[in-house]
Amino acid sequence: MKGLIDALIPPAPCLHCQLPDPEHLWLCEGCRASLPVDHDAPTVLEGGLGVESAFYYGGACSVLIPFAKNPVEPRLYEWLISQSSQRFNASALVPVPTHWRRRVERGGCHTTALSQVLSKRLNIPVLHALERTRNDPKQSQLDGIDRRQIQKDAFRGRHVELPKGKILLVDDVLTTGSTLRASAQALLRDHDVEDLGAWVLARRI
Ligand SMILES: [Zn+2]
Repeated sequence: MKGLIDALIPPAPCLHCQLPDPEHLWLCEGCRASLPVDHDAPTVLEGGLGVESAFYYGGACSVLIPFAKNPVEPRLYEWLISQSSQRFNASALVPVPTHWRRRVERGGCHTTALSQVLSKRLNIPVLHALERTRNDPKQSQLDGIDRRQIQKDAFRGRHVELPKGKILLVDDVLTTGSTLRASAQALLRDHDVEDLGAWVLARRI
């Protein structure tokens, strides 16, 4: 029976190298084994925010991460996070919010999906303590200076109570850090936060 099913449904090719992937797990065995796992210490952004990351943005990650949010694919996030051996403590996760218009385009919110996967692993809540006030142009279309200008005041706090202890902001990719810095500023301005850090799936810096 399995042979018949395999014959009827050809294996999906690996998203990175296009080789046939017999397990239907996005990547072939070779690309799975060479995921660029980040074993380094957290990146510290200008202003002092420490950012943990599971991967470097490169190799197969540069294909999987855009794929995972168009449309949002929580199973892929779950699998990617299970490939990283990161250990950390926090008392709550706050997704970097996406504008509702972008969520409609993507069929969901990728930072919420990522936070929910982490939440199950760490057994801590996801709290939507921030909201996005504007639908800014896509980050990838802006250079570093534009990103900084556009991010200013792009976020504000929501009426959600945050627990004591370390709060982690969650985003998919760290590029210049301007989104995380702006989110951190809004969270610290509008909430009583004891200790703040951030977590991203992959970093470019
Ligand atoms: Zn491959």
